Amino acid sequence: MDRHQDGLTANELLINGEGLTYKDYLILPGYIDFLPEDVSLETKVSRNLHIKIPILSSPMDTVTENQMAIALALLGGMGVIHYNMPIEKQALEVEKVKRFENGFIADPIVLSPHHTIADVLEIKDQYGFSGIPITKDGSKNGILVGIVTNRDIDFEKDTDKQVYEIMTTELITAPEGISLADANEILKRSKKGKLPIINREGHLISLMCRTDLKKNQDYPLASKDKSKGLLVAAAVSTHKSDIERVEALVQSKVDLLVIDSAQGYSSFQIEMIKDIKKKYPDLEIMAGNVVTMNQAEGLIQVGADSLRIGMGPGSICITQETMASGRAQATAVYKASLYAKKFGIPVIADGGITNIGDIVKALAVGGHAVMMGSLLAGTQEAPGEYFYENGVRLKRYRGMASIEAMKSGSGKRYFAEDEKIRVAQGVSGSVLDKGSIFDFVPYLVQGIKHSFQDIGYKDISSLHRALHDRHLKFEKRSPAAQMQGGVHSLHSYKKPIIGD
Ligand code: NAD
Ligand code: IMP
Repeated sequence: MDRHQDGLTANELLINGEGLTYKDYLILPGYIDFLPEDVSLETKVSRNLHIKIPILSSPMDTVTENQMAIALALLGGMGVIHYNMPIEKQALEVEKVKRFENGFIADPIVLSPHHTIADVLEIKDQYGFSGIPITKDGSKNGILVGIVTNRDIDFEKDTDKQVYEIMTTELITAPEGISLADANEILKRSKKGKLPIINREGHLISLMCRTDLKKNQDYPLASKDKSKGLLVAAAVSTHKSDIERVEALVQSKVDLLVIDSAQGYSSFQIEMIKDIKKKYPDLEIMAGNVVTMNQAEGLIQVGADSLRIGMGPGSICITQETMASGRAQATAVYKASLYAKKFGIPVIADGGITNIGDIVKALAVGGHAVMMGSLLAGTQEAPGEYFYENGVRLKRYRGMASIEAMKSGSGKRYFAEDEKIRVAQGVSGSVLDKGSIFDFVPYLVQGIKHSFQDIGYKDISSLHRALHDRHLKFEKRSPAAQMQGGVHSLHSYKKPIIGD
């Protein structure tokens, strides 16, 4: 325990009126008597939702659609599907995450017996595969009647021939509900390339592919609901008409609704929360964004189950410059968490995370999880294609209040039809290729665990207890200390995959 007066408590560090960001302080080291693998990063993202790693992806159109949400949920985090798209599309994105079964392709491309070899070849060209299930009526969940593989078409010269003339009809299938391990076993034994999964009536349910065998591993940390579906969140705006969006998302079985607004303490958001809670009392709501205790109080009072913290810290954000309002992020997280903890409401530190250290610092000042945009936008699972600029592989990343994002799809949401002057609060740019989420997130998690070991805490709850009991100690960094804490005095060096 504290044998000596050394270092600052969070209160001493963050309460004197000067706004601090993650770069402005360090956490003093503690005592190590455990290994990084003993650290649990389980956390709470809303009143009743727990996940195994404290990482959420931002509801942004260059960050989170179903691929990102699926990957993050498999690894123990959670994705928030953005709303810069029509309601039906967003609902479908949520549905894709909920229906995802690891290792099984839920919506394989199928053909009917009356398609032609030319159609098969076209699919092969476009998607690079040729193991195509054939259903009686050509619909995705139709009755399975055959399968066409490379072998069936290799020596066929007549591309007008219909599929039923060449398809394989003696099929090895597996029943709906089969476990991943059992399906893998059948696929291995059968020496076939594809294993169709069918229900009792013979309708195609999903497909398993030999080429994916290696990827079909278990994800022990996966964020799951009671029916074993992956957890997923989705964003809505505070505009009255978005109540329709809420309804569609509920139909798609969304687990957490994020009310997405730059300044969350508004009559619009309060009315929205009240309306949603009246209609769907059990639906968990993450409200925000807020940065003060007053704002936090306003949203918790009307039923927020979680708070999203951050006004201006985002990498693409110009809110603090243009609106003259906001708060330095570490101060914002600490202040909001001080208020929210009295009600058991978790706070999510949103924006401004640039490396592993920032994640731990956000948790150390009261955050239950971080929400990230720029760090995840360069991964394969983020929407958008890679491109090269001066030989560097990049992906586009833009603020949701950038002119470009506002114009694409949601402009009317922000401005009345006759409002011609648009004041952007975000910019549009690019980020470096970060590879796959399946490599990048485990790297972040391992780094966080090492950091927890250094500061001497085995989990987020004990870190928060120490924070509020004033045992956790910090030190403010002078500009010189910040320089010394980074790489210095070298002629050249190579950066690790992340870090600034
Ligand atoms: P918004 O749609 O909530 O607000 C845009 C404008 O519409 C505001 O003037 C708002 O007051 C008004 N408005 C909202 N609901 C209304 C209603 N029911 N009736 C009448 N007017 C209403 O969008 P935003 O707050 O500008 O945020 C846009 C996007 O940009 C979001 O994705 C947000 O997360 C992001 N953003 C985030 C930050 C941040 O620091 N976290 C800063 C700026 C923008
Ligand atoms: P980043 O992780 O630092 O890139 O910040 C991501 C966060 O920035 C998001 O989760 C949003 O809260 C916020 N954000 C998204 N779009 C904008 C914008 O256009 N302006 C300001 N902030 C934004």
